[in-house]
Amino acid sequence: MRKFSTPLIGLIFLAVSCSKQDAKTTLEQQQPQETIAALPERRCASQEVLEQQLATDPSLRKRMADIEAHTQKVVKNRGNLRAAGGRIEIPVIVHVVYNTAAENISDQQVNSQIAVLNEDFNNRNADRVTVPVEFQDEQTSVGVQFVLDRIIRVQTSKKRFSYYADDVKKATTGGSNPVEPTRYLNMWACNLGQNLLGYAQFPGGAPETDGVVVLYSAFGSQSKTSGSYIANYNLGRTATHEVGHWLNLRHIWGDATCGNDLVDDTPQHNTSNGGCPSYPHLSTCAGNPVEMTMNYMDYTYDGCMNMFSNGQRDRMLATFTSGGPRAAYAK
Ligand SMILES: [Zn+2]
Repeated sequence: MRKFSTPLIGLIFLAVSCSKQDAKTTLEQQQPQETIAALPERRCASQEVLEQQLATDPSLRKRMADIEAHTQKVVKNRGNLRAAGGRIEIPVIVHVVYNTAAENISDQQVNSQIAVLNEDFNNRNADRVTVPVEFQDEQTSVGVQFVLDRIIRVQTSKKRFSYYADDVKKATTGGSNPVEPTRYLNMWACNLGQNLLGYAQFPGGAPETDGVVVLYSAFGSQSKTSGSYIANYNLGRTATHEVGHWLNLRHIWGDATCGNDLVDDTPQHNTSNGGCPSYPHLSTCAGNPVEMTMNYMDYTYDGCMNMFSNGQRDRMLATFTSGGPRAAYAK
């Protein structure tokens, strides 16, 4: 099913700019809250971070439009995708920025997260078999390997970090500077306020803030090792979702009512889905398609998301092609 045509890019950025003022007001009103013990539903701030960056960096809009044009060109001609013959290996640096002992998560907890990324991005996750027959043709391996390069541990006086200040990525504000963002995927595990599980920067953003931030207790998998975990988000899927953004995926509902995620083979979702929706969950959008609630780019519990689609794979692989924003990772 085809959900969009031209002028796609203009529409996307028009939608973003229309909501800019609301987002700014919300950002200014929000203050970090106490440590979260439980979350009613998943919350990721990647879209809010993008809107904030677009408001403060006029050149970002052009960079992202160029990346989108490159992506659309590549996905229309799958022969351009270099997954088959090439090897895509992403060295990962994990910054564990901690204030309390619980936040100083173990090497094992960090390693369990790398293992989950390798399972989920290669369709080797044990729960892949639970994908309904209706979506099994779309379910796919992205074909990307993640290799832990090193763990950097930084003790901080900060009790929690806010996404709008992005302080966890700066040593001068109690965080840890990214290491060579064109060579490494930098991930930060830290305490976040605002009921947040994480956020990522989309391709095109500034190198000094490139990477993925995940709440320390949503980092790693309790099914693989013990540690500090938050209920329902303890299987490492927050990082899978955020790395999806880092590789240019949007939320499956397109951050709007019946919005556009820029992928052809995902159904149109009315909005985000939380918890563990029963199948089939029908969309209220045109045609009432069954929503792909088990997709990593929805907002469900870790135990209820287990697939990327072919269209999402193509979109991610496009970032690694020549001229793409993550081309340096392809060998
Ligand atoms: Zn997200």
